[in-house]
Amino acid sequence: MGGSDRNHSLAEFAPAGAKKTESLFGRNSFLPENPAIAASVEAFARGAQRRCDPDRPGARRSGSGSKISNFHTHTVYCDGKDTPRALAEEALRLGCPALGFSGHSYTAFDPSWCMSPEGTMEYRREVLALREEYAGRMAILLGLEQDYWSEPPGEKYDYLIGSVHYVRKDGEYLPVDESREILLKGVEKLYGGDIYAFAEDYFRLVGDLWERTRCRIVGHFDLLTKFNEDGTLLDETHPRYLRAAGEALDRLLEAPVLFEINTGAMARGYRTTPYPGPVLRRAIARKGGTFILSSDCHRKEQLLYGLADQLNQPYERVEEAP
Ligand SMILES: [Zn+2]
Ligand SMILES: [Zn+2]
Repeated sequence: MGGSDRNHSLAEFAPAGAKKTESLFGRNSFLPENPAIAASVEAFARGAQRRCDPDRPGARRSGSGSKISNFHTHTVYCDGKDTPRALAEEALRLGCPALGFSGHSYTAFDPSWCMSPEGTMEYRREVLALREEYAGRMAILLGLEQDYWSEPPGEKYDYLIGSVHYVRKDGEYLPVDESREILLKGVEKLYGGDIYAFAEDYFRLVGDLWERTRCRIVGHFDLLTKFNEDGTLLDETHPRYLRAAGEALDRLLEAPVLFEINTGAMARGYRTTPYPGPVLRRAIARKGGTFILSSDCHRKEQLLYGLADQLNQPYERVEEAP
């Protein structure tokens, strides 16, 4: 059976409000049904379209004055430093049209940086109360960063961000983004040191994210490059790496998902470019994927970290395939 059959059936599972569109975003793109997220995605896509037309006045204009929203925000209920209220106050001060919270879903095998089951309930109550309080001033969304290995949430959320933070191999969970040492030790033990075998497993899970979680946003597509700023962990243009990433991408492109341009590792000093890296970002753009800006915020001072600069990145330009 060909992959296109499976992909075709995937597309039919688009949520009722998700609208497939060709004009602004690309042939495989879906507009999210949530108006606040849709507005943010459209604003970014319009900026990208402007940049693709160098003759147009203002094609490279500054991003200042852009009304950016962030939908990937952590709080004290998981590994963030601030309360939902402090973050909402900061978002309002910055003029954000919307703010989306996305606490880490509970992972029983590693509770160190996720929300506890009880904490998740408190998080929900607090964010929903803030939503009422801020009505008419700023849209507040209740989201969840759903780890691949978490149980499906029992409660309703405005949206899920699907993320792979662990690869499971021989019954062990290997954290992808905890530290370079832990990652290298795990790859040595579980993959005999073959980093590309690890990358292939990682991207298999990423490619499965929508079917597994029904997420609307794919979190940090190439998180496994967090400790690769100097390029010594792996070669991001290696054929095995690109094949694995490309297969994940092809599966996700038929699902109603958005791809993050995620500046979280920049804010924390690990990387100088956002996820996904330039090669994969171009591939997503060329194949018609839709982006959403995301700071993966863990402290309120970094709520919109680096996002305005991303509105001015020339390498967003969509090239025609030869
Ligand atoms: Zn994450
Ligand atoms: Zn996150």
